[in-house]
Amino acid sequence: MEPTLHPARWWRPVERGKLLCTLCPRYCLVGEGQAGFCYIRQNHGGRLWSAGWGRSTGFAVDPIEKKPLNHFLPGERVLSFGTAGCNLGCKFCQNWDISKARMDEHASELATPDAIVALARRTGCAGIAYTYNDPVIWAEFAIDVARAARAAGLRNVLVTAGYVTAEARGELFEHMDATNVDLKAFTEDFYHRVTFSHLTPVLETLEWLVHETSVWTEITTLLIPGLNDGDDEIARECAWIVERLGTDVPLHFTAFHPDFKMTDRPRTPPATLARARRIAHAHGVRFCYVGNVHDDEGQTTSCPGCGAVLIVRDWHAIRRYRLDGERCPDCGTIIPGRFHPGRHDGSERRTGGGRFGVTLA
Ligand code: SF4
Repeated sequence: MEPTLHPARWWRPVERGKLLCTLCPRYCLVGEGQAGFCYIRQNHGGRLWSAGWGRSTGFAVDPIEKKPLNHFLPGERVLSFGTAGCNLGCKFCQNWDISKARMDEHASELATPDAIVALARRTGCAGIAYTYNDPVIWAEFAIDVARAARAAGLRNVLVTAGYVTAEARGELFEHMDATNVDLKAFTEDFYHRVTFSHLTPVLETLEWLVHETSVWTEITTLLIPGLNDGDDEIARECAWIVERLGTDVPLHFTAFHPDFKMTDRPRTPPATLARARRIAHAHGVRFCYVGNVHDDEGQTTSCPGCGAVLIVRDWHAIRRYRLDGERCPDCGTIIPGRFHPGRHDGSERRTGGGRFGVTLA
């Protein structure tokens, strides 16, 4: 499969014909005929190119709760797609078949921005999610699709590890309405050994998103038994979130399952997720959820003002929805997020339903 090469942004020539890619904090030096760590950014003829512009390795219609986003247009569908490659090297990657593939190795289909937008509309989606492999590395393509989506009245959702430079992030997120950022752990040791990246740039991205943009932001931490699920580490993560981001950024603790190069660890017990959620609440995080398990309480949004149950979820489906626009219908407390206008008292139930694959053809 011939990859589609597109002129890359965010690079400059340095010594001896090498190019410095400044898109992500890995700052790869890419020699002639070579690719960066992510596979898809390549030096040909002294210029940097992005392989895979206009190609997708798969589409699916997902409930937005699957991204996961619990405070952004609950119950809506998003058309999800990705390309190939990744700028991190997570040993537990749950999409490793595409994140570890080169664009020319993985089956893909041609997908222009206009065709993707048309597919989103045809499948009744409220927006498009850039996901599966980290969209940071194909930022040029994501931006072009996002522009077309905005023009068509669709929303844009970026699912990312947040490993992007200050130089590039402004233009990438300018076109996004919501994001879920994976905060993979809260130690540099974990980031270094298990993901081949660093913690600090991710924290910087989060602070910038919350304080300097209007992008709705939620955070996910996948808890891996014995690696990042200790009380102290979870407590330090939650304390940092509250101190640096505030109490209103939803935090999702999700369950790990053995995959890729990490098959020697058990699945995350539901009790671990419940424990993490208690720690988050104790530190002042107002909206903490658990994922990849069935847990009614851990997936419910309650009013922080009066305790009323507002949104009841089961995995990715919504079972009950009670909001007056962005307010609790009982006490009027504003629930942070981007919610549907109008009063919904539970009789009008919105549901994200299940996931299904779609193709452009
Ligand atoms: S985007 Fe890819 S090529 Fe550029 S610095 Fe990051 S890993 Fe390297």
